[in-house]
Amino acid sequence: MFANFDRMKERTLPLPAPHRLSRALSAATVILVVALVATAIAGFMHVSTQQRASADLRAQDQMLRGIYQALTEADADALHYLSGEADALRAHLAQVALLTGSEAAVLSVLGTIDTPTAAAQPAAGVVADLIESWSSAVRLATAGNPEAGRLLLTERRSGAIVTAIGAAVERVLRDTEARVAMHEDRIQFGIVMILLLQLGAGLLAILGLIYAFSSSRGEADKRAAAVAAADRSREQVARLFEMADVLQSASDHTDANAVLKATAADLVPGFSGALYVFNNSRDRLVLSTTWGRAENDALPETINPSTCWGLKRGKPHMNRGDGSKLCCGHHVGTETTLEIPMIARGEIVGLLQLFAGGVAAEERLGTVTELGSALADGMSLALANMALREKLRNQALRDPLTGLYNRRYMEDCLQRFVRLAERENREVSLVMVDLDHFKRLNDEHGHAFGDQVLRDAALALTSSLRETDIVCRFGGEELVIILPDCPLDRAADKAEVLRVRIEELTNTHGAEITASFGVASLPNTSQNVGDLLSAADQALYKAKQSGRNQVAKAPLRPFRIDRLVEDGVEDFPRAAAE
Ligand code: GH3
Ligand code: MG
Ligand code: MG
Repeated sequence: MFANFDRMKERTLPLPAPHRLSRALSAATVILVVALVATAIAGFMHVSTQQRASADLRAQDQMLRGIYQALTEADADALHYLSGEADALRAHLAQVALLTGSEAAVLSVLGTIDTPTAAAQPAAGVVADLIESWSSAVRLATAGNPEAGRLLLTERRSGAIVTAIGAAVERVLRDTEARVAMHEDRIQFGIVMILLLQLGAGLLAILGLIYAFSSSRGEADKRAAAVAAADRSREQVARLFEMADVLQSASDHTDANAVLKATAADLVPGFSGALYVFNNSRDRLVLSTTWGRAENDALPETINPSTCWGLKRGKPHMNRGDGSKLCCGHHVGTETTLEIPMIARGEIVGLLQLFAGGVAAEERLGTVTELGSALADGMSLALANMALREKLRNQALRDPLTGLYNRRYMEDCLQRFVRLAERENREVSLVMVDLDHFKRLNDEHGHAFGDQVLRDAALALTSSLRETDIVCRFGGEELVIILPDCPLDRAADKAEVLRVRIEELTNTHGAEITASFGVASLPNTSQNVGDLLSAADQALYKAKQSGRNQVAKAPLRPFRIDRLVEDGVEDFPRAAAE
């Protein structure tokens, strides 16, 4: 219905959408969790790889130590056998079996070995040579020449070779130890990293939960606030529609003002206000009503529209209490004022003002600008409708040529005045006016000239009478004047004044303009409305007959004894003469 109503209705619809930040955070949380799981798996794989490598190295160590022990024991057992301990041969052979078994493959890790008898030979080859030397020595001893066997071993320096292998084993073991330590460090590092990641994940999960909880609470709060605001807005719109509905039945400004005041008290409580409406000539705004204001807090009775920025800009304007910034010329007092122009069907019909004082007055008024505008919309439409109704009523009651009341209105009016006069024992006079030789005037100067004379004659009459007197166009060039509360003689005097006024039109129009007047009154000349009209008409006829351009009174009614008795008049003959 109104732009501001629609704007307010729109406000009731949208609820807040989930925040963009929270959506981004949810995505980031998912990515983070995936990354954490992936790094945890990678960490576990890393740790187990390191553990496997470390275990392999330890197993290799174990085998090397075993092989080295077998070497030293095989060498010692061979010497014992050569020294005559027959039992040592079995132990020697058992150790040699170990050295030729599958575990001997570990010798390859020793690489090449420099022996006292040969340079840089693979360890397996060195061990094979050694086994061969022991075997030759054992055979010599078994053949009964142990001394040759011992000599052989001394020559081939078996003991020194075993020592060289031992040195190589020592070196490899030291190296392995360092590598195992490195793997242990890596395992340690991996475990610490996994632990930290688990801790981080836990922490992030807790933070995420806290954030989700708080943001869902925030969202819920926002939603509740939006729902409350929407409800409030709906109520306001409903109240505005109710106001518009009630305003339809307002018959005048008093009614409309009462509706406005009641609605403003509901919709913008805590703000006082005022309504200014354009006067008929539309050159001033006149104070129509105020609300919520102290008696002595007077506002100007009228406002010159050219001093109001709200009216000039055609939109709400704020006048600060201290008069700073752009301030209307009509602004008075120390209150901050929101000036809302009232526009209906594209035309400014008035001005709605809302006042606020104290701190943050401007902000407070700012929050009700939309509501105030909707209020002004509703009211301005009502004012425009009232003006339209008034115009239509006037059109129905008035004669379009002269602007005088028409005959129907005159008849209604006369009935009312007569009844009132009878009830209150007062007099009503009626003057019938007929322009003289109007046909001739038309014929000589044209119909348009005749129309203008009629208009000017009407103006001459209305401008010479009181506002309470009623002037009507009875028909053609005949006019009727009702003079309430006016006795016959005074009415005749007035008619004489009017006769002169019309005669004066002769000077301005360059043609002879006159009128004849018939005056009658109730109760002196007539008894009822019908009598009054015909008595005035007969008096008018008499005036015409007597030469026109004059006033004639209707004859007094026959004397009424009943009335004089009621009034306590004793001197009948004198009263009758009067
Ligand atoms: P009298 O002095 O006897 O009243 O003479 P009169 O010519 O005024 O009277 P009559 O009734 O013969 O003529 C009335 C004329 O008034 C006839 C008509 O043309 C003219 N008239 C009636 N209404 C209008 C009007 O609205 N405009 C104009 N221009 N003339 C009108
Ligand atoms: Mg006439
Ligand atoms: Mg006439």
